[in-house]
Amino acid sequence: MIGQLLQTPIAYLKGVGPSRAETLQSELGIHTFQDLLSFFPNRYLDKTQYYKIGQLQRSNADVQIVGKIVNLKTVEQKKGKRLVATFVDDTGEMELVWFRGQKWIRENLKINVPYVVFGRCNWFNGKFSMPHPDMELLTEHQKGLKVAMQPIYPSTEKLGNKGITNRVISKMIQQLFMETKARFSETLSDQLLQELHLMPKPEALLNIHFPKNQELLAKAQFRLKFEELFYIQLQLLTKKALRKQKIKGLVFDQVGERFNEFYEEHLPFELTGAQKRVLREIRSDLGSNAQMNRLLQGDVGSGKTIVAVMSMLLAIDNGYQACLMAPTEILANQHFTGIKELLDKVGVSCALLTGSTKKSDRNQIHEALESGELHILVGTHALLEDKVQFQNLGLAIIDEQHRFGVAQRAKLWHKNLLPPHILVMTATPIPRTLAMSLYGDLDISVIDELPPGRKPIKTVHRYDTNRLKVFAFVRDEIKKGRQVYIVYPLIQESEALDYKDLMDGYESIARDFPLPDYQISIVHGQMKPVDKDYEMDRFVRGETHIMVATTVIEVGVNVPNASVMIIESAERFGLSQLHQLRGRVGRGADQSYCILMTSHKLSSEAKTRLQTMTQSNDGFEIAEVDLKLRGPGDLMGTQQSGVLNLKIADIVKDNDILKTARHYALQLLKSDPQLERPENLVVRNTYIKILKNKNIWNYIS
Ligand code: ADP
Ligand code: MG
Repeated sequence: MIGQLLQTPIAYLKGVGPSRAETLQSELGIHTFQDLLSFFPNRYLDKTQYYKIGQLQRSNADVQIVGKIVNLKTVEQKKGKRLVATFVDDTGEMELVWFRGQKWIRENLKINVPYVVFGRCNWFNGKFSMPHPDMELLTEHQKGLKVAMQPIYPSTEKLGNKGITNRVISKMIQQLFMETKARFSETLSDQLLQELHLMPKPEALLNIHFPKNQELLAKAQFRLKFEELFYIQLQLLTKKALRKQKIKGLVFDQVGERFNEFYEEHLPFELTGAQKRVLREIRSDLGSNAQMNRLLQGDVGSGKTIVAVMSMLLAIDNGYQACLMAPTEILANQHFTGIKELLDKVGVSCALLTGSTKKSDRNQIHEALESGELHILVGTHALLEDKVQFQNLGLAIIDEQHRFGVAQRAKLWHKNLLPPHILVMTATPIPRTLAMSLYGDLDISVIDELPPGRKPIKTVHRYDTNRLKVFAFVRDEIKKGRQVYIVYPLIQESEALDYKDLMDGYESIARDFPLPDYQISIVHGQMKPVDKDYEMDRFVRGETHIMVATTVIEVGVNVPNASVMIIESAERFGLSQLHQLRGRVGRGADQSYCILMTSHKLSSEAKTRLQTMTQSNDGFEIAEVDLKLRGPGDLMGTQQSGVLNLKIADIVKDNDILKTARHYALQLLKSDPQLERPENLVVRNTYIKILKNKNIWNYIS
């Protein structure tokens, strides 16, 4: 019954009405009583605690302090006058500041009388200051009714203009509690409530909107965050289970001749422990009768290619074909050359198909594919053309997944009766938390170990004013026989400005590194593919010493002799991109270097990025920092932004709760996959309701 009541349109709540209802809908997506109930404050003003000036932290928090004003003065500034009061308690002093209404305040404030002040504290010019504090005489404050924690709801400009202030929202919610008599139903099982000592739902809702104190608030928050993450995990895990049940896969049950021959006789190095583990994971997927859908994460240089090659051998030994798709021609070329060299020895045929494959070659490839004569096809998007028909594609590997959309992946799919197994490889480490929430329905393998003998890349930050020294260092490295990358930022391939930066840079480098002693390659997005490849090839063959480029070289390119990566205007790059670029060096036996060049003007976020880069070589660690700096939306690219439309949990800060939620969701599905047991009825019902309301479902499918 209460459930129905909560579905009432918000206009019917006393004090709302049609006009406000419309604003609530358009601005906050609040349509029903239920929506309002789960519209949570994003912070609270804690008036239960009193701070001492000596205890204040430089974190801009709201604080409540008891003290006296000992001095009041007007300070003249270019921008206008402000009124400044010196406020003291027995531990220190700070400033209270007013920019408006100064006359009234000056006339009414009492000197040397105890006040309670409340407001946001800033650290400014070596002092704490509080602009426009709420003030009350201590005597009045002691007489008045104690306000505990005041909730602050997210707001928008339009809400403010329409008079829907924080107070009004709070009033509406009070009204909602009255009309429903706060008889909200429980949405988690007794077992979960007991095991995790969770606050019951009605109490949690009350305390999230009207907390009595910090402790109760914390319990309410934990309960609601857990619930939110628990149901998301439950959905992801159910979806994964369904996929495994429904989508039958091709069964590769034998480890055959070619695989064994390659492993025993032609493997160019001993596999790392991580590579072996991942191969076992893939083998077990391929041998089961469900379709594999696996994401392989491994930092740049961790050796994903050999894992791909050996997985393809598994497919071929079982009578199937395989393909490997790369995001750029350069990469596809490199993969093709590498794979061909490895697999010629075991009699596996391999072809390359890209946009610049000649028509006659193309036709030959099409035929060989259809007849099954060709085992492996490597290429770019060209693989997705309708003319490309495999006889029996068993495994599709996609390198550097973030460049391919989901739709494109689906296209590969439909080339078969039974879908091929899919392995997506990425060098962009996705923090585990995020991977769990976004790809909770995929299987994930991680290569978390670099091949032995790699020297960690030395990374330094240098200002543009030190360019001469940097160039002297480059000359020394070139003298030792090494090669150097110099990379310019490219925000948009078409941006004329970026292009100009690159060309200016190129000219100045050409002056500092003159012919004939120095040969320079240049690669950028506005070049024709043939020219790009030509330049790239010259560098790969060691004919040029310096490669001046935009970020087109970011992914995958492998030139072991290159030992220096210089990144110009490094402050303009995101962390993951910097890390990707750095991964182009450190591939050989020599000590490698990454030099981050910037001007002196740096935002604090840029400083954090540079510092992270100079301190860490660990892609996962860097990804975590990136996630903290930018949030999940940006990290995953616009495609996925807004994906995690969470009401209360925070994917970064609530990492631990997420893990707990996943653990319990897994456990529940293991013990009661259909949620049939009476004690799980409440979970089942809530789950069904969530699916019906679609508010969470949207961001999963
Ligand atoms: P990525 O994961 O970035 O694609 P690659 O597969 O290109 O990495 O491997 C990077 C380099 O490391 C290659 O030159 C490859 O031959 C080499 N490599 C890979 N695995 C090993 C290993 N187990 N031992 C030694 N070298 C390895
Ligand atoms: Mg690679």
